[in-house]
Amino acid sequence: MIISIFYKQLITTLSLACMLFTALEAHPNARKRRAKKAISRKIIPKQHHQLVAMLPKERSDTQQLTQSVPEIENASVPVQKEYSVSQGKTLHLKIAAPKSLKQAYTTFAGTQYTFAAIPHHNNRYECFIPVDCDQEPGQYKVVVRTQDEKLEEKSIGCRVTVDAFPFKPQRGFKISKKKLQSIRRSGIGNSSYGQVIREYQKNSPPYKLWEGAFELPIKVERITSPFGEVRTSHGFGKRKHYGIDLAQHHKAPIHAANHGVMVHKTHSKTAGNMVVLDHGLGVFTIYCHMNSFDNRVKIGDRVLKGQRIGFLGQTGYASGPHLHLELRIKDAKNLKTTAVDFMEWTKQIY
Ligand SMILES: [Zn+2]
Repeated sequence: MIISIFYKQLITTLSLACMLFTALEAHPNARKRRAKKAISRKIIPKQHHQLVAMLPKERSDTQQLTQSVPEIENASVPVQKEYSVSQGKTLHLKIAAPKSLKQAYTTFAGTQYTFAAIPHHNNRYECFIPVDCDQEPGQYKVVVRTQDEKLEEKSIGCRVTVDAFPFKPQRGFKISKKKLQSIRRSGIGNSSYGQVIREYQKNSPPYKLWEGAFELPIKVERITSPFGEVRTSHGFGKRKHYGIDLAQHHKAPIHAANHGVMVHKTHSKTAGNMVVLDHGLGVFTIYCHMNSFDNRVKIGDRVLKGQRIGFLGQTGYASGPHLHLELRIKDAKNLKTTAVDFMEWTKQIY
C-alpha cells in the first residue's frame, strides 16, 4: 500500500517536471539559445563565439552598401544613349556625372566641342554640336571624355544617327558679274559670315546668356530663302545658303532674337550693315543687310530678347529688302563656327 502511494507521487512529480521543462523549452528565448548553440557547433569556431550576434548586422550593412553604390554611379552616363539629328540641325548632348566635373568634351566630325554645366541641375552637363549641312548621313559613335576635380579621366559613349535633309535648290538665283567682282574684292561671301565672328569666339562667356526659345527678329511676312537652300552661281559654284532670308517692308524694326551681347556692328560690301550678337556658350546670331542700326545699342552692350537693334533694309548684296539671319555655334578650340537652322532654336528650348 505504502509502496503504491510512493509510486503514484513519483509519477505525478515526474509528469509535473516534464510539463515545466516542455513549457520552458517552448519559450522564444530558449529557441534562440538552441539556435545559437547549433551555429556555434557547426559554423563558428569557439574563439569567435562572440561575433555570432554581429553577423546578421554586418551582412545587412554590406547589402545596403551594395545597393546604395551601384556601379553606374562611379561614372558619368549619357542622358540618352541614342540621338538622331538631321543635317543642318543642332545635336544637343547631355550627360549626368556622379560628382562635379572639371571638364568634359567630345569630338564630332573631327571638331572638338566642350560641355557646360546645365544651370540648376546638379552635375549635369550639356553640349551643343552644330551638324553641318554637308555632314555625311549615317551612324556615328560619339565618345565623351570627362575629367573630375581630382583629374581622374573617364570616357562614355553614345550613338548618333545623322539623317539626310532634303535641301531644295533655289530657282532663278543669279549674281551679276559686277556683284561677283565686288564680293570677291571684299573677300566675304554670303556663306562665310562666320569669318567675321572668328575674333569674338574666344571671348564668348562659358555660360548661357540666352533664356528660353529664340524669337524671330522681325514680324515675318514670308521666308524668301530657307536655311540650307542650294544655290548655284558661276562665281561660287554650288553652295548652300547658311541663313534664312526674312522679308518685311523697308525700315521694319529688327529685334534681338535672345539675350546676349552686341559684339560686332559694322558695314561690309556684301553683308551691308551687319550686327553680331553673342548669346554665350559660343552661340552667335548674325543680322545682315540692315538699313540702319539702332544707335542706342553699342558694341559691348548687353541686349535683351526683343530689344530693337536696327531696321530692315537692302544694304550690301541684296536684291530686295530682307534680313539675312544666321545662327552659328563655335568649336572648343575657337577655330571655326558652323551655321545651323535658326528656326529649330525658335521651337526647341535649350
Ligand atoms: Zn540670305
